[in-house]
Amino acid sequence: MSPDSAQVAVRLAQQIEASGPVSVAEYMRVANTAYYGRADPLGAAGDFITAPEISQMFGEMVGIWLSDLWLRHRPAACYYVELGPGRGTLAADALRTMKRLGWEPSVHFVENSPALRAKQVQAVPDATFHDNLETLPTDAPLFVVANEFFDALPIRQIVSTLGGWRERVVVQDGVSGFAAMPGACVTEDLIPEQFRTAAMGSIYELCPEASSIMHQLSARLAQQGGVMLVIDYGYTQPALGDTLQAVQSHTYADPFTNPGQHDLTAHVDFFELSNCAKNCGLLVAGPSDQGAWLSALGIDQRAQILAAANPSRAADIASARNRLVAPDAMGALFKILATYAPDWPQPEGFGL
Ligand code: SAH
Repeated sequence: MSPDSAQVAVRLAQQIEASGPVSVAEYMRVANTAYYGRADPLGAAGDFITAPEISQMFGEMVGIWLSDLWLRHRPAACYYVELGPGRGTLAADALRTMKRLGWEPSVHFVENSPALRAKQVQAVPDATFHDNLETLPTDAPLFVVANEFFDALPIRQIVSTLGGWRERVVVQDGVSGFAAMPGACVTEDLIPEQFRTAAMGSIYELCPEASSIMHQLSARLAQQGGVMLVIDYGYTQPALGDTLQAVQSHTYADPFTNPGQHDLTAHVDFFELSNCAKNCGLLVAGPSDQGAWLSALGIDQRAQILAAANPSRAADIASARNRLVAPDAMGALFKILATYAPDWPQPEGFGL
């Protein structure tokens, strides 16, 4: 256990001792703030790898998709916005592609990790940083991208017990540090009607921060114009289930040991994100499978061009393309959702 991680565990233990159990959401917030704040967790040598780190083709397809909308709508001015840009790789690949098509928007990153901001400056030196959405520019359309951002936001877990639906809370546990158990009762209104009589032990997850970020940004897009692309793993219809997971060095770990030492994530509720956008008057395309979307945008043609230009790397390029597209790799697990202002063109790649 690193000293940082030990400190997080001690702080959480003290908080629990002083004021009682914390919600799963609070636990996840404290753990992930420490985790992302301390170092760069991405890449083959890190804890997990994301699509833009697998191949430049991913960011290039995002750049093509954004450019197509920009070319068809031609706003006088606009901004590229990315939520949680990691190492800035996706942005750098997308912006390079956009520049080739004659488009160089100013770049705004919403990022709260000092360690990752340092990496992002190297990848995109001109980026302006924001702690949250509040300070994003208000005077022109936004082209927003969020890849594996929403899955890192804290979730609440509500568990069905003999005594009704209860908040799942985290307590201290002598053996493994922490453990989760049912806490105080919550109002049944939080649970979709079809799940209210679910079996004992069933878990329903909510991500209040995801909903509020989506509402806030959707209201901006409705007012300022623009589009948003959300890429993540998750479910497309309301669902029950415990999806909280910890990943360290590319393997699964117990989420309730060593907080701050591994990446805590949960599946993203695309049904809820879509509804937030629709409630603000936006139109929605998808969610679609990542593999289908990348194929529709021409990843195979791009792979061929790259392989022809770099014959010695042809096998690597083919394998990266497969990782991103194949249904048994990331192609079906990851979903793509686009939201856009009603007077904007229909986005490509969704088989509309
Ligand atoms: N999009 C990148 C990184 C994904 S990891 C990629 O695909 O490679 C999640 C990213 O979201 C990290 O950059 C992390 O620091 C950032 N992040 C997590 N929670 C955040 C929050 N509440 N506000 C801003 N950034 C956050």
